[in-house]
Amino acid sequence: MTMGSIVDVVIANVKEKNGEASLFAQAVEEVLESVEPILKKRPDLVDSYVLPLLVEPERIISFRVPWVDDEGVTHVNTGYRCQFNSAIGPYKGGLRFSPEVSVDEVKFLAFEQTFKNALTGLPIGGAKGGADFDPIGKSDMEIMRFCQSFMNELYRHIGPVTDVPAGDIGVGKREIGYMYGQYKKLTNRVEGTLTGKSPVDGGLVGREEATGYGVVFFAREMLAYHQDDLTAKEVVLSGYGNVAWGAAKKLNELGAKVITISGLEGFIHDPEGISGEKVDFMREIRYGDKTLADFVEKFPSATFYPNEQPWHVSGDIYMPCATQNEIGQIEAEAIAKSRGQYIVEGSNMPLTREATHILKVAGKMIAPFKAANAGGVACSVYEMAQNASFIPTAEAQVYAQLEILMKNIHQTCVEVCEAYQLPYDLNVGANLAAFERVAEAMLAQGIV
Ligand code: GLU
Repeated sequence: MTMGSIVDVVIANVKEKNGEASLFAQAVEEVLESVEPILKKRPDLVDSYVLPLLVEPERIISFRVPWVDDEGVTHVNTGYRCQFNSAIGPYKGGLRFSPEVSVDEVKFLAFEQTFKNALTGLPIGGAKGGADFDPIGKSDMEIMRFCQSFMNELYRHIGPVTDVPAGDIGVGKREIGYMYGQYKKLTNRVEGTLTGKSPVDGGLVGREEATGYGVVFFAREMLAYHQDDLTAKEVVLSGYGNVAWGAAKKLNELGAKVITISGLEGFIHDPEGISGEKVDFMREIRYGDKTLADFVEKFPSATFYPNEQPWHVSGDIYMPCATQNEIGQIEAEAIAKSRGQYIVEGSNMPLTREATHILKVAGKMIAPFKAANAGGVACSVYEMAQNASFIPTAEAQVYAQLEILMKNIHQTCVEVCEAYQLPYDLNVGANLAAFERVAEAMLAQGIV
């Protein structure tokens, strides 16, 4: 079969099986379309089994998660773990607790995680999981009971060299702690089967900051490539969760100015900049102790825009750090007209395919999430190493390794574009470099 046609056939099959409008089909199409230069040079990959195997998860587990609320009422949620690809290492990826979590969502996230993890250069395969559970408004005891019930099933599918879950939206060190506690209770083993733990129970100092810091280090590399830097850049940021918080901290440290944050309920615009105690306040909003309205009350320079997102605010850098597809056609058109030249993806797949197209046509530079936010999962591997070796890693060492790693990922994307004689395009570079690594390993391992 020719290269064009096998890619088309594989994409058509994925659409037929998963639905044209599925997140999974969107992700598969985006990756496979950009790996065509590799397939032209490597007919063995076209004729081999790699592509059809690559778009089918190795395993998906779906399970019942029953729990009892503080009033004694029973609830039942659905839990998932999608173990997508183990060609280069044990399954690795986060768990997401959010009402919209579905098979489609975990499949897309696990597929993308496979490539993100490959880009780190570390030996980790791709996975993702979670539950359609809404942690917002739940008491601490309800969260604990839910996490324990979730682990009552998940524990039999994971392990330090099998599958190592971590956090994602709605899952931070508190939830990981409760799940880890239950894992130890059930298995009687103290081992690094979950990452993103608190440093008090085996977690890596700096893991919480790592994803957001890594996003900013990557942005710095992209700007440097264009003889630019972060000094005094106004950043339109979305989200107030873990990634947004870490990014805001590091942006301030490196001399940029964060002017927005957001949640599903709306966004805050603060022209004086969101730094210092305002960044600390983001944590309180994330954990449900405070709201965006409270932010405005405490910091009068800020304005709250309910039920809106910040993409029409003028800035130099746009940094989506909330969730997938948060920038669609309308938002991309607003950014395309702005003075901003850079879009740095902090959340997983924040741009629709249409939005990416509009922004590329407008000549904007995009840092793709699978490269830009890979610092989080890389630091999870440092946590695995710390747990396996029983030797703690110092915070300064974590950040030093993270800076080098983000520099290397950017360089890898640049070099692969050069090797295929393509112009600088980080989306294409990230997909090509990651695909090469995963596909070679799959080819070596045969039809399994
Ligand atoms: N959920 C994070 C991500 O999207 C972290 C995954 C991990 O540390 O395993 O990469």
